[in-house]
Amino acid sequence: MRSDIKIQIMLLQNKNVAVIGAGPVGITMAILLQQKDVAVRVYERDKNAQARVWGGPLDLHICSGQEAMRAAGLLQRYFDKAIPMGRIVADEHANRLFFVEKQYETPEINRNDLRKILLGSLEDDTVIWDRKFTGLEERNGKWILHFENGPDTEADIVIGANGGMTAARKYVTDATIEYSGSFVIQGEVLEPEISCAEFFNFCDGNILMASANGNLLTANPRNNGILTYGVTIKTPDEWANGKGLDFHDGNVIGDFLSQRFTGWHKWYQQLFRATSFFAGLPTRRIPMDHPWKDDRRLPVTLIGDAAHIMPPFAGKGVNTGLLDALILSRNLTEGNFASVTTAISDYEHQMFTYARAAQEETSINEAAMHTSEFSFQKRFEK
Ligand SMILES: Cc1cc2nc3c(=O)[nH]c(=O)nc-3n(C[C@H](O)[C@H](O)[C@H](O)COP(=O)(O)OP(=O)(O)OC[C@H]3O[C@@H](n4cnc5c(N)ncnc54)[C@H](O)[C@@H]3O)c2cc1C
Repeated sequence: MRSDIKIQIMLLQNKNVAVIGAGPVGITMAILLQQKDVAVRVYERDKNAQARVWGGPLDLHICSGQEAMRAAGLLQRYFDKAIPMGRIVADEHANRLFFVEKQYETPEINRNDLRKILLGSLEDDTVIWDRKFTGLEERNGKWILHFENGPDTEADIVIGANGGMTAARKYVTDATIEYSGSFVIQGEVLEPEISCAEFFNFCDGNILMASANGNLLTANPRNNGILTYGVTIKTPDEWANGKGLDFHDGNVIGDFLSQRFTGWHKWYQQLFRATSFFAGLPTRRIPMDHPWKDDRRLPVTLIGDAAHIMPPFAGKGVNTGLLDALILSRNLTEGNFASVTTAISDYEHQMFTYARAAQEETSINEAAMHTSEFSFQKRFEK
């Protein structure tokens, strides 16, 4: 028997791995471990696999997201389902200023489609649905996981993949989440070809981007029959104190957007009036400037947004997370480390470097977006 296989067996033999969160990163992590016969369970707060994941489509980057999909044996399925999109840059008067050809190498995939592809590759019952994780406890050399709505469970290794607000973070780092100063209003339009036909036709099957007077709009008309858009604004100071808009009342948000977009072409106004669902997202980041705890007595780590949430302004979030899953799974299963702790520690070391770079690129983009000379066209021409 080769020595690396010996180490591999020693590392994860008879170990149970718990992944918290069945987002794209958590499921990919579970697939990559399961392919190496590791005993893994994923605990997810959504009621079931059919729960709707809202939000705009995601494009997987070649050297990160796509590499993880390739390792999972799912790259072709991503390409089969995803849609290559062009970009139209427009001005507030609905003039078309600039066009970027369809991006065949990095097509856009609907979030539910991505989840479905990933889940289809896991053994049945790997995901335990309707389990909202609340905390961890050490007992007799094992982790005990607590849930709001289900019995405790035991694991040897815990991997927190349940997004930016994870309750697993405190076991790994004292870093606390920060608001980055931008606010994204997300909207969804059902049957856009009917309910905002002129705006929909203006998009012409492409992602439409427009900016003026501190308002930035990005719309994707092809999100599984729904048009999804985001309006990014610099957060008014008082919103930081929880005194923002009431997102329970769609009319309030529609009026707010109509007012902010006064003077813009009527097609944009049509878009806001046709919106059936709004959500407000203050953009957040976890600072990566101080090291994670080295006194963890049992193995626990974070991947994806749980590890390095960042605003979406460089399109790096899910891609960075999928790279985490790829590196951590390899470290734990390929026989290059003498202990689980050193395998995790090496992953964290690598992750800090690329996640920090992704956060920096995001911050540069975010700062530029809030300057008076910002234009999407200049960004594409760079
Ligand atoms: C407006 C917007 C646009 C974006 N655009 C892009 C983009 O273009 N490209 C890009 O790369 N990224 C983008 N992102 C970021 C991207 O969505 C995230 O980086 C990505 O979803 C992170 O994946 P994840 O699996 O780590 O976490 P998530 O997708 O957040 O998944 C976490 C999972 O954990 C579950 N969960 C949460 N709490 C618990 C709990 N207590 N117990 C159990 N389960 C729990 C959730 O239900 C969810 O299923 C965008 C984000 C936003 C907000």
